[in-house]
Amino acid sequence: MNVHRECQNIGTYPAEAGALVLLYHRVADAERDPQLLCVSPKHFREHLEILRRRCRPCALSHCVDHVLEGEVPAGGVAITFDDGYADNLTVAAPLLREQGVPATVFVATRDEGRDREFWWDDLERIILRTRSLPRRLEMAASGVRHEWNLTDGSREAPCAPEWNVQMGDPPTERQALYLHLCRLLRVLGDCERREILDALCAWAGVSRQGRSSHRVMMPDEWRELADDALIEIGAHTVSHPVLSELPVADQFAEIMGSRQRLEQELGRPVRGFAYPYGCRGDFGPATAAMVKNAGLAYACANTGRPPHSGGRVTKDSDPYRLPRVLVRDWDGDTFERHLREAWKLADVQERPRHVGAGA
Ligand SMILES: [Zn+2]
Repeated sequence: MNVHRECQNIGTYPAEAGALVLLYHRVADAERDPQLLCVSPKHFREHLEILRRRCRPCALSHCVDHVLEGEVPAGGVAITFDDGYADNLTVAAPLLREQGVPATVFVATRDEGRDREFWWDDLERIILRTRSLPRRLEMAASGVRHEWNLTDGSREAPCAPEWNVQMGDPPTERQALYLHLCRLLRVLGDCERREILDALCAWAGVSRQGRSSHRVMMPDEWRELADDALIEIGAHTVSHPVLSELPVADQFAEIMGSRQRLEQELGRPVRGFAYPYGCRGDFGPATAAMVKNAGLAYACANTGRPPHSGGRVTKDSDPYRLPRVLVRDWDGDTFERHLREAWKLADVQERPRHVGAGA
């Protein structure tokens, strides 16, 4: 496929408009989504229809090739998914195929504990969803003792399903406990974190067994996804650590380990990488240098914000710090409004009908 034809400027955006790299995690109807990781299948289809009509859907690898050549397709949009949830294969991929839109999926290979939920999902299940929690919790993390008392009655009922972490002050002690534990667990090593989650399961009286709705892909599913011509697989470390918290040698092992594991399973080169969490402070200059040393061609960061003008990829973007913008569970109109804001366009013009996504 000719890269230059695929990403031609469609002429409806100013040449300096640049491209957007969208960051998704899951396509699923979630009953409870405190971290705002899920986009419903209905909304995802609406997003894809808007991208096809009004923008220039583009594979991220092709977009990166253009950055390296100093010319980014104006109005280009690359879709990415982080983490490797099974719904990327079972729900997102069929919709991408239906609309002919490419995507890149960054997989945390999780050589241990792939049968477990991600730690943030485990915390949601244990702390927010459990019917009744004990009054008192004592635990140690990194050698420091912590204790909490749930005294406001919130321990007697699961938390409101619509609550999420962006809603400001937590309304109950149960939600405050969840936020405390999120902050504590985020920076721990994988082993200690798993021990703490096991202890929390025992404390709350719930099983360690992960939910099938929150499962991640297995290696045979990585292969199935990679066999789709529209999908590229990228690396996202082994255990999804905050890389900047690790010694340099451990950072390299996480980066290289995930690349090699994926290449061994997929039987093809892996070019791309996404920093776990990916915001400023989650990785440093040494991390970016190691991604390059690991033979990877590019790495994606996370602006932590919805589409905005500072989140665009331009010809001056660093291929080892490509900005990405977060997509939430927006309906089509809201999604389109965010795109317009990012490109500072009064109105995103209708794309000429004859220019197909795969042209
Ligand atoms: Zn991630």
